[in-house]
Amino acid sequence: MRKSQNLAEARKKGLKTYHGKPCKYGHGTLKYVSGQSCVECSKIRGATPERKMYEKEWRQRNTERRRLYNRRWDKDHPEKVKIQNRNKQKRHPEGCCRRSKRYREKHPEKAREASAKWQEAHPEKSVLYAATRRATKRNATPLWLTEKQKTEIEELYRVAKLKELLTNVRFDVDHIYPLKHPKCCGLHVPWNLRVIPEKENEMKGNKLPE
Ligand SMILES: [Zn+2]
Repeated sequence: MRKSQNLAEARKKGLKTYHGKPCKYGHGTLKYVSGQSCVECSKIRGATPERKMYEKEWRQRNTERRRLYNRRWDKDHPEKVKIQNRNKQKRHPEGCCRRSKRYREKHPEKAREASAKWQEAHPEKSVLYAATRRATKRNATPLWLTEKQKTEIEELYRVAKLKELLTNVRFDVDHIYPLKHPKCCGLHVPWNLRVIPEKENEMKGNKLPE
C-alpha cells in the first residue's frame, strides 16, 4: 500500500525516483518511477532511464541501418531464425494468428502454395489434421438428423461451390456456432450452417456469433 502511495506521489510531483520495497540485492529502497526498478540495479545493468531513452532514440534515428543489419543477420542464421519464430509463435499465438491471417489475405495464392508445400512435407500430420476435422464434424452431427436434413447440408456445400464458380470468390460453409469452442459446441446441422465468403469466415475465425 505504502509503496504505491509513494509512487503515485512521486508521479504527481514529476519526480524521477521514489522509495519503494527494499531491493533484494540490498541496494535500499530507491526506485525509478518509470519501470519501478531499483536504481542501483539499473545502473549495474546499464539500464537507466537515460540509457534506455538514448537507445530508443538511436533506434529511431537508424531504422534503415537496423533493417539492413537485421536482414543480414537473419540470412546468416537461418536455423536461429526458425527457432526464434517458433518461440515467438508460442509466446504470442494471437499475434501470430493475426499476422498470418493478414498475410493470407494479402497473398492468397502464396498462402495456398505454402500450405500445399507443408502438406507435402508432412503427409502424416496433414492426414491427421484432416481426420481430426472430419471427426469433429462427425461428432457434431446428431444421430437424429433426418435424411432430408442431411441433404440440406449437402446442398449448402453445393451452393458454396456454385457461388464460387459464379463470382470467382472463394466461399465457405460456416458453422455459425463453431464446432470447437471452449464455451460451446455448435452442431453440424443445417440451421447452424451458412454460406459466406471465405474471407469473411477467416475474419470470424472461431468466434461465437454476436
Ligand atoms: Zn538493486
